[in-house]
Formats: sequence, C-alpha cells, structure tokens
Amino acid sequence: MKFLKFFFIFLFVFFIFLFFLFQSNNFQNSIVKLGIKNLVLPSSIFPEYDALSALVCGSKSPLAHPTRAETCILIKAGDKYFIFDVGDKSVSNLMNWRIPLDKLEYVFISHLHIDHYSDIEDLHMWSWVGMNRDSKLMVYGPDGIKEVLGKIEDASQIDYRYRNEHHGDNFAPLDIAGFDAKIIQEFNVPIYDKDQIKISAFPVNHHPIDPSLGFKIEYKNRSIVISGDTIYSENVLKASKNVDVLFHEAMSTEILNMLYEVLPTDSLSRVGIKDVQNYHTEAIDAARLAKKANVQHLILYHLLPAPRNYLLENIFVRGLKEEFKNFTLSNDGTIVFLPTNSKEIIVREIK
Ligand SMILES: [Zn+2]
Ligand SMILES: [Zn+2]
Repeated sequence: MKFLKFFFIFLFVFFIFLFFLFQSNNFQNSIVKLGIKNLVLPSSIFPEYDALSALVCGSKSPLAHPTRAETCILIKAGDKYFIFDVGDKSVSNLMNWRIPLDKLEYVFISHLHIDHYSDIEDLHMWSWVGMNRDSKLMVYGPDGIKEVLGKIEDASQIDYRYRNEHHGDNFAPLDIAGFDAKIIQEFNVPIYDKDQIKISAFPVNHHPIDPSLGFKIEYKNRSIVISGDTIYSENVLKASKNVDVLFHEAMSTEILNMLYEVLPTDSLSRVGIKDVQNYHTEAIDAARLAKKANVQHLILYHLLPAPRNYLLENIFVRGLKEEFKNFTLSNDGTIVFLPTNSKEIIVREIK
C-alpha cells in the first residue's frame, strides 16, 4: 500500500516536471531539432540491396477523397528513379517521403487526362529550384504531350523569371527550366534501355482517349507492368504474361451504382458516374486478367472511387479472392520490393 502511494506521488511529480519542461523554449527547440533531421535526410524507404521497387505516390482516380493523391507510381530500378503519371497531390507525397526528385531519369505520362499530369508543374519546380537537375525535365507521353507541356511551360515563364531573379543562376538556372517532351511513337520496344533497365509502352483501350498507354518495366530478372487507364485489354494481358507485379487500374461498379442512386435525379454527376464505367476496368476483371497472365502479384490502383473506410474496401474487393489470391488494394504509400537475387515479392505500407 505504502509503495503504491509513493509510486503515484512520484508519477504526479514526474508529470508536473514534464509539463513545465515542455514549456521551456530551449527544450522545445532541442526536440524539434532532433525530429527535423529526419525531414531533411535522404529517403530511407528503399532497401540497401539491389531491387526493382515501386511506390504508389497516388492511388485515387479523379473522384474526391480527403487524403489520397491522384494517380502516380514511382519506380526505382537499381539506383535510377522514374515516375509514371503525376496526378494532383502526388508530388506532395513524394516530397514527404524525401524522394530525390532531381535524380529522376524520365517521367512517363500514360494519357492526357488531367488527373494523370496535373502535378507536373510542382514536379518541375521541386526538381529545379535549389536542386541538382542538369537538364530540362524529361517527359515521355502520347501524341499531344508536346502541346500540353509547351502550354504549361509558356504559362510558367513569369514564375521561372521571378525565381531566377530572386535566387540567381545557380539556384534557379533558366537554361534548364521547362520540359523536354518526347512523343512515344513505337510500342513494345524499349524507350529506355540502359544499365539492365528496359522500359517500353503499349497501347491500351481507354477509348475515346486515344492513344492511352500502359508500361512495362524490366530490371535484371524482375518485371512490373502498369496498365494505365483502360477497359479489360488484351494488350495488358499480353504484356503482363508471367510478370512479377501488375499494377492495374480498378473500379467498383457496385459502389458507383450506390453513389448514382443517392444523387438527386437531376444531378449532372449521375451522367458522369454512368459514363466512367465504359472506359475503366472492374476490379474483379483485373483479378481475372492477372490470373490468366500468371502474374505473381496484383496491385489495384487508380481506384474508382477510392474507398474511404474498411467497409468500402471490403465492397471494392468482393469476390476477388476467389479469382486471384495475391492482390493488394493500394493506398498512397503502398510499396513493393523485388530483390534481384530472388523471386521474392515484398509488399509494405509506408506513412
Ligand atoms: Zn484517370
Ligand atoms: Zn483517363
């Protein structure tokens, strides 16, 4: 009894002491300094060992979600970084994870729906000002990419000039401000072929958005396919034969139809909810495709709509396990490591 009494008195005094300690400016500063180090050190989310890795930097489709970013997948092959699509808020994710954006080799845009490139200006900015990018931002995309990026570059001229006038040529060099846009004209042949990394594109079916592209990334003995926006596509099936990981876009018509029912009958959004269903893939069809292609692991992304809770996640993947067991419903921060010396597939979540 006596011991308990002393223990509680000790706890009480200890918490009072802590309370006053936390009021001290010096103590607050030392705590912040400790934490701040972690905000500026290079990213440690990728493994030390040689691997092909993929990080979902945006998992949602255009439909609203309070926290998720729009479509974005970062690939790290050996020590090289590539980005596939860069939708709204995805660059903020990449910066929070301290990805060295000036080290990007290429950016690939699957098609010219704005949810796939709306953060390209931020990506340009955060790989340019005060960074070590040594050329314009290299962006590969379908026909139309030069026109879109040319107009973005024109609209950004004032910002480029302001940054340069304020920070100088070393910090914001005008000669590398802007984009080096290239049109992908050939399919199923490497666009990038260096250091045992091969990246190729193939057409998918997101009609009437033509062309729309999917991508295949190979590094040593490991491989990843990214579907882009598409209905069930034989080209995705062909490209995905025996790959380690397939990132496939996915929708839940069950949830979309619930949304449709609750909207007022005169709401224009009802038209949109019906229309999107004819150019995206039902989650269960992505699972069937993965099984048919003998994919090792399926990651669903570009979620339409992106689930907001456990219940909606469950509805989104209804019946999938019966078709194909090895799947992940992605979040912003779903990350996959494929070590090059094995067949192992490691899937994790980072915050
Ligand atoms: Zn999209
Ligand atoms: Zn689209």
